[in-house]
Amino acid sequence: MRPAILSDPEQMLALVEKQKREGKRVGLVPTMGALHDGHLSLVHRCTEETDFTIVTIFVNPTQFGPGEDLDKYPRDLQQDTDLLSQFDVHAVFAPDVDTMYPPGASTSVMPADVAKPLEGALRPGHFEGVATIVLKLFQLIPADVAYFGQKDYQQTRVIQQMIEDFHLPIDMVVCPIVRDEDGLALSSRNSYLSTVQRQQAAGLSRALFHIRDLAGSGNLEAASLLKAASQILADASIDQIDYVALVDKRSLEPVQRVDENTIAIGAVRIGATRLIDNVLLAQ
Ligand code: AMP
Repeated sequence: MRPAILSDPEQMLALVEKQKREGKRVGLVPTMGALHDGHLSLVHRCTEETDFTIVTIFVNPTQFGPGEDLDKYPRDLQQDTDLLSQFDVHAVFAPDVDTMYPPGASTSVMPADVAKPLEGALRPGHFEGVATIVLKLFQLIPADVAYFGQKDYQQTRVIQQMIEDFHLPIDMVVCPIVRDEDGLALSSRNSYLSTVQRQQAAGLSRALFHIRDLAGSGNLEAASLLKAASQILADASIDQIDYVALVDKRSLEPVQRVDENTIAIGAVRIGATRLIDNVLLAQ
């Protein structure tokens, strides 16, 4: 079915409140659009588990740093709504920037300590922007449950911590990473890659899965696992490595020896394109 497209926050809030009065379970899938099968897996799960699914499409300027890809980030609302029509999505909320950040708006969320390492260290202000927009969306769309992807693992930790710390009355579901056949995690940014870069890009997931396989066969020393991973990245001609780390899946602090609570997480740049990925070692 073709979802209703709303951009007015009051209409959005009224629609959600009506569903809740009728006793419906409302689900929210926040996205920046340029939808692919990764996003659609969240949408599908939301439609299975709730009575009323709302997808938001908003390229949030405050989570992009200076020199990042805000201007070139792919935007195609028509194509996105066509893709969503395969599912029982009831509404798409696609507000303007001025609606979410009216002139003069200056309050923001200071995210928890889990926002500090990894992405937070390399993208100052990123998680402040993420937490702020997610809180705004939760206010306008007081859903029962929100769906996020493990693809942005640190983001899920930041939002989970915000939900806990602010006692937000919403549950969070984290959905597994959807990958291409060669292992590359689907991302809207993959569209920036040339054919050669696209082949190189698969090296990141190969390196992370290699860590998982070695750990599974008893090699638990983080230093030796990271060395093996860097060899895989080198073999794939990936030489701009922002980080590849073995961290505790809750605190995101580095570990010396891996266990079932460890996550292998990485970010690399291929040309001008930045890619992130992660693999839970318990899987
Ligand atoms: P984005 O539009 O990049 O902000 O992503 C919107 C949501 O989709 C986030 O919760 C992402 O983690 C999730 N997502 C993006 N890529 C994937 C993927 N390959 N598999 C599963 N979820 C994803």
